[in-house]
Amino acid sequence: MSEARIIDGKAFAADLRGRIGVAVHRLKTEKGLVPGLAVVIVGEDPASQLYVKNKGEQSRMAGLHSVTHTLPAETTQEQLLRLVNQLNHDPAIHGILVQLPLPKHIDSNAVLAAIDPDKDVDGFHIVNAGRLAVGLPALVPCTPLGCLMLLKDVIGELRGLHAVVVGRSNIVGKPMAQLLLQADCTVTVAHSRTVDIAETCRDADILIAAVGRPEMVRGDWIKEGAVVIDVGINRVPSADPEKAAQGKTRVVGDVAFEEAKAVAGAITPVPGGVGPMTIACLLLNTVTAACRSRGLPLPEELV
Ligand code: NDP
Repeated sequence: MSEARIIDGKAFAADLRGRIGVAVHRLKTEKGLVPGLAVVIVGEDPASQLYVKNKGEQSRMAGLHSVTHTLPAETTQEQLLRLVNQLNHDPAIHGILVQLPLPKHIDSNAVLAAIDPDKDVDGFHIVNAGRLAVGLPALVPCTPLGCLMLLKDVIGELRGLHAVVVGRSNIVGKPMAQLLLQADCTVTVAHSRTVDIAETCRDADILIAAVGRPEMVRGDWIKEGAVVIDVGINRVPSADPEKAAQGKTRVVGDVAFEEAKAVAGAITPVPGGVGPMTIACLLLNTVTAACRSRGLPLPEELV
């Protein structure tokens, strides 16, 4: 039995960003269209600030018009809704992303619902969730979209394969299951009430773990040769006890990587697997939204 192929999400995302850059340049020069992304952050959560910084940098590097609105933690819901409304009507902006989590005094659902669905590049608006569910063109949440791209790259045709998605959140598990259904997979969605989750996973040709539990999926849950996509990002104490005692941490996925690698046909590492795809797909969604706003097809580099 040979070891699994390691799926290099970092390299795939870099290639995708490169193709986005070429497409954006052509849209500018041939159509006078500059895709614009507005990212809104409220408060000072350090992890959110880092994400927002990365999103801004990568957007600019790909040639997008990129605007970041940094609002203080005490911003009211009305003020935030006013900004969203302004961005909805701004012709230079084709994608709006409100970074979550929002401060507790703001109703996230109300804010997400206020974003114009055609500019909802996170794909969280119920209009986009509904469009995805019924198979209409939608803006699809970035993380599952990235997972699907990796799967198609590794496997090619997904038709007829049994995909098990562990996790049923609105931002990862459910849209992932919808995308796999659209790709003609037979889809099982497992969650915290699934009776024998290990047995369910053992039947998967494609196994997606989106749980948020460090290394929950063990090697003996995986069918030989299966393709494993690990969405989880979990911070745990360093493996070195001395470093752990100093409070040092490391990031692991939802899959026990070393065990899984010995059984799977291919697997994404954490970090360096799904993570880098998320921002690349945000840029892709912004270009998609910009093209749709003008009735243009997606540039050939991105099809
Ligand atoms: P949520 O907490 O919203 O959802 C977790 C899901 O896992 C729920 O459906 C829950 O089931 C299920 N679950 C929890 N415990 C178990 C268990 N013991 N057995 C089976 N199922 C279980 O998480 P998200 O979907 O937002 O994120 C999942 C992971 O992906 C996290 O680690 C997160 O950090 C990561 N993530 C990574 C991204 C990236 O860019 N790579 C982007 C987004 C998320 P139930 O519904 O029954 O409670």
